[in-house]
Amino acid sequence: MTTAAAGSPRTYQVRTYGCQMNVHDSERISGLLEQAGYVRAAEADDNPDVVVFNTCAVRENADNRLYGNLGHLRPVKDKHPGMQIAVGGCLAQKDRGDIVRKAPWVDVVFGTHNIGSLPALLERARHNAAAEVEILESLDVFPSTLPTRRESTYAGWVSISVGCNNTCTFCIVPALRGREKDRRPGDVLAEVRALADSGVLEVTLLGQNVNSYGVEFGDRYAFGKLLRACGEIDGLERVRFTSPHPKDFTDDVIAAMAETPNVCHSLHMPLQSGSDDVLRAMRRSYRSERYLGIIERVREAMPDAAITTDIIVGFPGETEADFQRTLDVVREARFSSAFTFQYSKRPGTPAATMPDQLPKQVVQERYERLIATVEEITWAENRKLVGETVEVLVAVGEGRKDERTGRMSGRARDGRLVHFATGALGASGRPGDAGFLAGRIRPGDIVHTTVTYAAPHHLNADGEPLSHRRTRAGDAAEAGRSPRTPGVSLGLPTVGVPAAVPAPATGCAAG
Ligand code: SF4
Repeated sequence: MTTAAAGSPRTYQVRTYGCQMNVHDSERISGLLEQAGYVRAAEADDNPDVVVFNTCAVRENADNRLYGNLGHLRPVKDKHPGMQIAVGGCLAQKDRGDIVRKAPWVDVVFGTHNIGSLPALLERARHNAAAEVEILESLDVFPSTLPTRRESTYAGWVSISVGCNNTCTFCIVPALRGREKDRRPGDVLAEVRALADSGVLEVTLLGQNVNSYGVEFGDRYAFGKLLRACGEIDGLERVRFTSPHPKDFTDDVIAAMAETPNVCHSLHMPLQSGSDDVLRAMRRSYRSERYLGIIERVREAMPDAAITTDIIVGFPGETEADFQRTLDVVREARFSSAFTFQYSKRPGTPAATMPDQLPKQVVQERYERLIATVEEITWAENRKLVGETVEVLVAVGEGRKDERTGRMSGRARDGRLVHFATGALGASGRPGDAGFLAGRIRPGDIVHTTVTYAAPHHLNADGEPLSHRRTRAGDAAEAGRSPRTPGVSLGLPTVGVPAAVPAPATGCAAG
């Protein structure tokens, strides 16, 4: 057991930057530290014994941000004997020993391939009173074999693969996360089952390119089979996945989505550009026609599918005609939402040294036109749902204005964000009476309600909910419990009642 000088357990905080992969890795970092005897610091605690930065190298100025944050912590550490600072994630994998050279008060640097070593590295750094830097070039243990402290009672991520065999010229992931490593289907399903058994209703299968899942063990249809196998798991109500790659997308995945009742009819498929010339320069080996063909087949099989995407605007050499092609594809694809990015150089990527980098004002102006077009379409698509009944999985933290408006928020099956009224508290408090539900709906519960208003990025449902189902995830949320999955290796995981944990703290700030 790791204890502070006074004999109480050492406290920790994890600060997370970047993508879902990092957010999920942070759940593992928390799980590992708690298994080693650390306890999570309270949200307001700005003086924990251990601070772990889980960094991202994809965002612009990620290094300035990290060194700024490390600089702020230095005086805190000077006043707190025994405090330790650890830096992990993609930026650590990239900068390695440079981190302790630039910030010698950092105790541990660990990479994306050896998260499991963190508790040992912290111990060693304390014992030797010297910084420990350990970066591996490839994965030693599949990260999902590590214990995980889950952040949510109702939804969980499950990694099916890590790394990527593609070489998109704007992306640093292949350099930092290595080649694709696939987890065995039996291990993936054991973890999904363990989550469902602990009351989790929704699982998102996670990989840099889920459609190439199986490449390592020679089954190109492995992903569709995995979706179908998830359909057999009792209690699992929603299955999602991210991200598919249009190059590797096969029709059996569409069939599996359409024929497996618990797989949600939502697809997040990065487009990046509608111009074939730009896709070529990005080294993304599909063309817009293939992309639109997949969407057409998805809609044929699932007319209610919501399709979302990522788009980069202003890639080096992008002409006005190229950009117009992106707008054309956006109009044709009728996305329900799009994450739009202005291209900016990422050191270490091939695109950073390409000629014809575009001036900032050209990128900005195209970006604004892209947003206007995307919003026009997403709003029109959302308006089609006014008057429809939606099933909402009630969430935490999805509605910034909920407290003021008296609504709660969650996601519909197709992934759309829904803010819904719970109704005024009824006087009698008897089931069936108006207002009975107010105050009784918890995160993790399921509500059916009717859409009354559509905005470009969300739906509102302002009538009384049509139904409310209490779930085990809702019970756990009410009791302040979150599921933990033990390290899942080849055997079946142990499944039990999730342990009570302190109130969730937000050491993490996904950015
Ligand atoms: S598919 Fe391309 S963008 Fe996605 S992780 Fe791989 S290299 Fe990066």
